[in-house]
Amino acid sequence: MKVYPFYDNEGKLLDYVNVSEHFTLGEFRKACFHLPNENITGVPIPLNLLYAMDYLRGKLGNPIVINSHFRTIGHEKKQGRSGRSQHTLGKAVDLSGTGLVDLVATAVKEKNEVYKKLREFGINAFGIYDNFVHIDVRPKKLLGGIYYWDKRGKKKSEVNKDDDDAPQDYSIFIFIILVTLLFKLILKKKK
Ligand SMILES: [Zn+2]
Repeated sequence: MKVYPFYDNEGKLLDYVNVSEHFTLGEFRKACFHLPNENITGVPIPLNLLYAMDYLRGKLGNPIVINSHFRTIGHEKKQGRSGRSQHTLGKAVDLSGTGLVDLVATAVKEKNEVYKKLREFGINAFGIYDNFVHIDVRPKKLLGGIYYWDKRGKKKSEVNKDDDDAPQDYSIFIFIILVTLLFKLILKKKK
């Protein structure tokens, strides 16, 4: 994952730099959240996330605003969050734009072309909110499958606390239970 410095050698902001077809470094910098005493001089941005964002921008045909990208653990904890969000790794973005929530919610629901494309780019988590969507490139669940949550219609306080606290991956537990059952069955047959 490439880390993009915010400043050039002379200390001038590199906001104008295009990091992808549709997005500039400045848009990411302004979507960076940290504590006042934390000095952030650049952000990591996964290439796949950029591909997914450009693809969504093209499909939507409307401008997309990056509400939130990189957030420090300190910032998250101050907001009452776990600090384990994909935002703290730079692997997540919260995006808004006219029609975007509908586009992504429908994609996940119908497993359509947009969904397949986003999955190809490595988007393994989708969070749907009233005014924005959260996508990130965390590893997919052990037995495949995506992380998905829909917070539309929820109270603002709940949304703020829950952002990115996606459902856990329970597939490892299911896997262990299945293996245990199978093992018991084999033992039973041997008797
Ligand atoms: Zn988010």
